[in-house]
Amino acid sequence: MKEFDYIIIGGGCAGLSLAYELEINEKLKRKTLAIIEPRTEYKKDKTWSFWKVVTHNFDDCVKKSWENFTINIPKKTHHLECASYPYQSIDSGLFYEKINNKLKENKNISFFKDINEINSKNSFIFNSVPLIKKDYRNLWQHFCGVEIETQNNFFDDKIFNLMDFDCDQRESVHFFYTLPYSKTKALVETTWLSKMNDNSQKDYDGQIKNYIENHLNLKDYKIIYKEEGAIPLFYPTNEIEKNKINIGTAGGMTRLSTGYTFLNIQEHSKYICKNIENISKTRKFEIDKKYQFLDDIFLRVLEKNPKKMPDIFFKMFKSSPKTVIKFLSNKSNFFEDLSIILKMPKITFIKALFY
Ligand SMILES: Cc1cc2nc3c(=O)[nH]c(=O)nc-3n(C[C@H](O)[C@H](O)[C@H](O)COP(=O)(O)OP(=O)(O)OC[C@H]3O[C@@H](n4cnc5c(N)ncnc54)[C@H](O)[C@@H]3O)c2cc1C
Repeated sequence: MKEFDYIIIGGGCAGLSLAYELEINEKLKRKTLAIIEPRTEYKKDKTWSFWKVVTHNFDDCVKKSWENFTINIPKKTHHLECASYPYQSIDSGLFYEKINNKLKENKNISFFKDINEINSKNSFIFNSVPLIKKDYRNLWQHFCGVEIETQNNFFDDKIFNLMDFDCDQRESVHFFYTLPYSKTKALVETTWLSKMNDNSQKDYDGQIKNYIENHLNLKDYKIIYKEEGAIPLFYPTNEIEKNKINIGTAGGMTRLSTGYTFLNIQEHSKYICKNIENISKTRKFEIDKKYQFLDDIFLRVLEKNPKKMPDIFFKMFKSSPKTVIKFLSNKSNFFEDLSIILKMPKITFIKALFY
């Protein structure tokens, strides 16, 4: 069976981002790479959005970028500006196409459907398949979004809505998220932060229909795309093994308080690429420990006080938007962290330290 210097298990966001980074930095000229990916065809299945706090390789896959956003709770709205760190939405269809076209040019890169088709004994492995044990205590961010199209101009495409908590909470944390791509097209997503122990919050179609028709007051529209997903708000249990690095969700690249993962994956890919010649001795890349600590407290508060969360998110955005964005994107300094922490209800957070 064929052997390869490197193997990437899972040709999704993290696997392909890493392969692309290695390829464009000419690390695969004299090395071979096998990508193990069971899917039979690549098509758009996700929209990755984030504040652009660092550069990445995929500006040409950006569907839309915004410099203004809102967050709201019943009867109150914050209007915020993010020109220094625009919010970008990447179309996964364009991302897959761009990367696969590039990788095809290099004969040292091969795709397989199953790892048993090759000999993996002597390879260095990058694994992006998360090991997730079922545990009723775990929190998830689960969601469903539809891209809708209207006949007439309806949306203001200069401003997106990050969180609209003016909706049914069902003893959990629930908000809608709207990304207007143009005056006639928008992604409308229903998002829950919960333990997902049953399917009672998964009546997504009804939730979205009700929001569009009775909250946005839009009756005449058609659905042109749909995506659904669940992001674990806990770390998968993939073990650290010799000659293996976990990447993507499996590698702890999700910021647990927000679900944001895409830019962390890009930074991890750059780190691996920079250290590839000495990768087995390179220090593990991880989200800064201070965010792991703060997110842990934040999620404990969320678990115990779901009803308070709309107010807590709303209050967080009373700091300057630049500060909040840096905090949510793991780029804040000590003073910025402090400014966010001071906006939080102190007793609730102190109590969470002792749960
Ligand atoms: C619908 C959706 C929307 C999201 N939106 C955002 C967002 O807006 N912003 C953000 O920052 N994050 C977002 N995320 C979170 C995160 O960025 C994505 O989940 C991202 O795709 C994670 O990359 P990954 O490579 O870890 O996993 P994936 O992209 O899921 O890749 C894993 C790959 O492994 C393959 N695979 C599965 N089983 C095996 C196996 N046994 N052997 C080999 N391969 C296998 C799968 O087919 C898949 O291609 C979203 C997640 C989802 C699900």
